[in-house]
Amino acid sequence: MRKHLEFKGDRWEGGEIHEYKGNRDVIKHVLFGERNGLDFEVRVFEVKVGGATSLERHEHQHAVLVLEGEGSALVGNEVYDVRPFDGIWVPPNTPHQFVANKGKDLKILCVVNVRRDRPKKLSDDELKSLLSNPRIANIIRVS
Ligand code: MN
Repeated sequence: MRKHLEFKGDRWEGGEIHEYKGNRDVIKHVLFGERNGLDFEVRVFEVKVGGATSLERHEHQHAVLVLEGEGSALVGNEVYDVRPFDGIWVPPNTPHQFVANKGKDLKILCVVNVRRDRPKKLSDDELKSLLSNPRIANIIRVS
């Protein structure tokens, strides 16, 4: 197993590129994880300008670090403007989404457990409640 994943401008040599839930605005790179015998995964998500990650919730947590670009993050009922080196914690069962809404691609590093539950879409009621907050309605992308 490679110990140095060299960055080649748009990908890591020895990293894996995964399709992201049919969303063409997001590229998912898996750098380290189960194949290294780890019980956590280190991934990088590139969100193209105007795009967003899934609006979802799940029991597993995310530890996120912004690497590049700018955007907004929804975590629960809060919206944060994010820029490089900001950290974001997504606690269990908390609705979340990362949105590249600042005219730039947004690149984030995200650590999760290898063994984790499947993401769930928000219920209509949850969505309605979020959308009733103008600041949230302004940034979230509902697909
Ligand atoms: Mn998630």
